[in-house]
Amino acid sequence: MEVAANINRASAAAEALEAGAEGVGLMRTEFLFLERDSVPSEADQEQEYRAMAAALGDRPLIIRTLDIGGDKEVPYLGLAREDNSFLGIRGVRLCFERPDLFVPQLRAIVRVAKDHPNVHVMFPMIATLEDFRRARAMLDEVRTELGAPHIPLGVMIEVPSAALIAEQLAPEVDFFSVGTNDLTQYTLAMDRMHPQLARQTDAMHPAVLRLIGLTVDAAQRHGKWVGVCGGAAGDDVGALVLTGLGVKELSVSTPQVAGVKAALRGRSSAELRDLAARALTQPDAAAVRALVRG
Ligand code: PEP
Ligand code: MG
Repeated sequence: MEVAANINRASAAAEALEAGAEGVGLMRTEFLFLERDSVPSEADQEQEYRAMAAALGDRPLIIRTLDIGGDKEVPYLGLAREDNSFLGIRGVRLCFERPDLFVPQLRAIVRVAKDHPNVHVMFPMIATLEDFRRARAMLDEVRTELGAPHIPLGVMIEVPSAALIAEQLAPEVDFFSVGTNDLTQYTLAMDRMHPQLARQTDAMHPAVLRLIGLTVDAAQRHGKWVGVCGGAAGDDVGALVLTGLGVKELSVSTPQVAGVKAALRGRSSAELRDLAARALTQPDAAAVRALVRG
């Protein structure tokens, strides 16, 4: 099991490594866009990705392409308001609408990946095989133009349809990374930001766990690995159940790294596999938590 960190800025890499992170499992690149009042240039982006890749040495860096929309609004982009922004032009869908944002980002990432083989790329909000192939084709075009080799490429599993077609996606990807925050909201039809629903919006719900289990099984059949970079990876119960389901990497916030490692220490894979199998048969998330806490 690898425990990695979710960080947004290169300046946070040293602290993550000191905390024991074995890499970066999720770099949320949209923060480069959210923290300023104009689009960061290709050169600015390249500088930030390069600094992060260099800080990590040969440890993996998974760069997630732009995930704007939904809860992440960028006022200066002047995007149309949507009644259902979480179900609208979000993540990779926005990138298809706005190649003027997506292509420069891909170019910045590819330039860095040419010099840093630890760079991985993944796409957010993939709902269909067509989404993935379209995004990959854009990346491939940039790679060809810049003469870059293959870059390990992943799909975020955060829409139930993606988990349900993991078998079709798996032969075409290098890895999956489960975004439990969104996967939970879309599976349970509960807004992840909703104050009254927050208690029930729990990734330990057996419906969510079953989708993660399907993803892992499909990945394993094709010799691929699965990580989790959503909030469930950083919670003690989540870390145990996800490991038992066969997840190979947990990417958590830096302050959670030590706690996750401590939670996993001394547990055997057989014990956790059995625990995860029993979790899948529970009626709800509260029962899964009670089972794991014993
Ligand atoms: C997720 O959805 O779990 C995830 C990691 O992405 P974000 O929280 O940035 O939507
Ligand atoms: Mg998400």
